[in-house]
Amino acid sequence: MDRCPTCRARLDEAASCRRCGMELTLLRQTEQTADRYLAQAVAQLAGGNSRTAGESLRQSLLLKSDPLTERLLGLATAWEQTKGRPIPYVGEETLF
Ligand SMILES: [Zn+2]
Repeated sequence: MDRCPTCRARLDEAASCRRCGMELTLLRQTEQTADRYLAQAVAQLAGGNSRTAGESLRQSLLLKSDPLTERLLGLATAWEQTKGRPIPYVGEETLF
């Protein structure tokens, strides 16, 4: 989170926004939890477990919208549907 979700001020490491005073601790904790789910999913994908990776990615997306996480969920879903076989490449739109 680079900017305050309320006033869009650029954020530093403080627990609250310097401009509007919004408390940021809970939001940062939520973002960190989403990032942990994403890191867990990447490890699960690397280990070949697309089903549990998909679950971790969905948990992450419940907490934080993120284009990379959405793309990885598309990959995990496609991989799960092919039962771990290589996904045929036919162009940019294949996976997503
Ligand atoms: Zn603010």
